[in-house]
Amino acid sequence: MSIDYKKYIASVKDFPNEGIIFRDITPILQNGEVFAAATHEIAEYAKSRHADVIVGPEARGFLVGTPVAIELGIGFVPARKPHKLPREVEAAAYDLEYGSNVLEMHKDAIKPGQKVVICDDLMATAGTLHATKELIERLGGEVVGAAFYIELTDLKGREKFPDVDIFSLVQYE
Ligand code: 5GP
Repeated sequence: MSIDYKKYIASVKDFPNEGIIFRDITPILQNGEVFAAATHEIAEYAKSRHADVIVGPEARGFLVGTPVAIELGIGFVPARKPHKLPREVEAAAYDLEYGSNVLEMHKDAIKPGQKVVICDDLMATAGTLHATKELIERLGGEVVGAAFYIELTDLKGREKFPDVDIFSLVQYE
């Protein structure tokens, strides 16, 4: 069944700052059929990339990535905001469309040579993708793909990573 995901994405003007149109994916999650279809499409993609493990950045990457990992019967690794993970971490700073942040992963979260697909709700400037990819590679993993519900094409995130295979369910300019 083909689903028009845009019907399940709410566009909210001036959130969290003036001039920003926030794409709210919670209506996808609220509808069991649509959530399952989005998860399935990304799981098929991750399978085609031969993923051994899924990595999702905090927080919406957890919502997108964990059901994909469950569907494929593979592991999920969170990339978290600072001071959340209790053991030794690798850390990378990144810039956001609005603001900046740091992401951390446990040092033993990825085994050397593991093939990783990164999952998140939305790619804007691809700063989050950059930091997540850097962490995975420092831990010895190989990023074989990145999957998003939404890609904001005008921000040209894709062009910053010609070496990364990028998949998105829907695109906005
Ligand atoms: P980037 O790092 O690619 O510039 O921004 C993407 C990150 O910011 C993602 O983790 C995403 O959750 C969050 N983000 C930025 N803008 C939006 C938006 O309009 N809607 C949603 N749902 N997330 C956003």
